[in-house]
Amino acid sequence: MKNKEYKEKRDFSKTDEPKGANGKSENHEPIFVIQKHDASHLHYDFRIEIDGTLKSWSVPKGPSTDPSEKRLAVPTEDHPLEYADFEGVIPEGQYGGGTVMIWDKGTFKNLKKDDKGKPMSLKKSFEEGTVEIYLKGEKLQGGYALIKMKSGTMKGNWLLIKMEDDKADARRNPINTEKKSVITGRSLEEIKKEDPE
Ligand code: MN
Repeated sequence: MKNKEYKEKRDFSKTDEPKGANGKSENHEPIFVIQKHDASHLHYDFRIEIDGTLKSWSVPKGPSTDPSEKRLAVPTEDHPLEYADFEGVIPEGQYGGGTVMIWDKGTFKNLKKDDKGKPMSLKKSFEEGTVEIYLKGEKLQGGYALIKMKSGTMKGNWLLIKMEDDKADARRNPINTEKKSVITGRSLEEIKKEDPE
């Protein structure tokens, strides 16, 4: 366990000091965030909490609610958990320069089971390239699979696919119909205007 001594000395029901990433993973449902990012190319950054960090993918077309739509998800670097609260403008010329909106946010459950039907840890399913999670967001709910491609020209990239369940809906298109921040209700243009570089 990380920060064992730090945690043993404190009662986190009484102090507002940070519990540390490991404490958060143990005691809370993991979080996810989808950040709409108007950088050199508009894309959606899909991030899920695994082992105290945000595992991240860049999804050019954004997530779909239609199980027949497989969306390319290009892996990017881990981000700190605190990044899930970031909405604003990254200055031009900086890495990822452009406007970032919190398009959806919430918690999720791990759905992945092994061949024997036993629950598989998020860490292991990430390493094996078959993550299955149940999102509890405001715009997106239900099962989503992230599958790593292991051969061919797309090797190393992943696919983000809506799983078949009662939240699957081929008629919905939240990327086009729900364009505002779930935190502030702002559009990309409003964020850019209000958070000048
Ligand atoms: Mn990005």
